[in-house]
Amino acid sequence: MKILIVEDDVTFCESIKKDIVDWGYEAISANNGKEAWQLIENEDVRLAILDTKISDIDGFELCRKIRRDIQEKKIKNNYIILLIDEGRKDDIAKGLSMGADDYLTRPFDFFELKVRIQNGERIIKLEDSCKRLATYDPLTKLLNRNKILEFLSDELNRGWRHNHPTGVIMADIDHFKKFNDTYGHSTGDAILVHVALRIKKTIRPYDKAGRYGGDEVLIVLPNCSQDNLKRVAERLRRALSETKIKTKAGTHNITLSLGGASSEISPDVSANDLIQSSDNALLLAKRKGRNWAVFAKTLHDSFNDASP
Ligand code: GH3
Ligand code: MG
Repeated sequence: MKILIVEDDVTFCESIKKDIVDWGYEAISANNGKEAWQLIENEDVRLAILDTKISDIDGFELCRKIRRDIQEKKIKNNYIILLIDEGRKDDIAKGLSMGADDYLTRPFDFFELKVRIQNGERIIKLEDSCKRLATYDPLTKLLNRNKILEFLSDELNRGWRHNHPTGVIMADIDHFKKFNDTYGHSTGDAILVHVALRIKKTIRPYDKAGRYGGDEVLIVLPNCSQDNLKRVAERLRRALSETKIKTKAGTHNITLSLGGASSEISPDVSANDLIQSSDNALLLAKRKGRNWAVFAKTLHDSFNDASP
């Protein structure tokens, strides 16, 4: 865990830094607010120890800015410990109200600082694990349904602002129930994990995939034209159909059916409309015999086949 110390007394700052490194943490320091802010923006700081009375941007203002940027998802969550001068009781309430998690009153014992850092580390780890649970599907490690829908909504908004189309692909494993029934649920789980991994490997780094339902994966492709969408869907279809998946129960031929839709089909299409259109296309891919990719040509059910 990286810890930032912001303290204008250089000697004192260096002695805290040395102890923190001895306690097994990574430590960086700044002697003024501007320098501190640059480090917060560019380094992966998870705990900040802030002197309240640095000259340019004081510890209170830094607290406010850190909390604002966490809220706006520009930086990761940070635990903040303020260093308060003796006899400045009012600063405690002021600091805590501006977003500090904890404080130490000078002069303080270094062991007390160590214990407070350990408490901060515990809270940060807990928050990180809550965030992971709220973001990812535990089995496939794809984004969960809420997060992929949030991503789609953000990308559609961004696409409108920059005049970029957003593509959506709904992929569903063919006859998946049969694998569960034949080989058992744990083999079914292993197949789901493999399929998710293969989908992640096949899409571009800035595309995102999320588990939409049982064996259904929603893929969101920012800045993706209809033609590109067809290429990606075809690549996904082939990535699954042309290689076998190995599990403890043997090797399996898995195919996907895919339904695609792009925001190009209608200028002010909503996230719901796109999902509905890709779902309708997916239904047609299933009806065509599975292992097909079908695309919505218009918002209301006109389709384009691409495969096999
Ligand atoms: P189709 O080709 O029409 O999609 O046929 P299908 O058998 O895949 O039908 P459907 O998509 O409706 O079935 C999904 C199956 O996925 C049903 C359910 O038992 C299974 N499933 C859902 N979630 C999980 C899971 O987490 N693990 C396992 N092993 N199976 C799951
Ligand atoms: Mg299925």
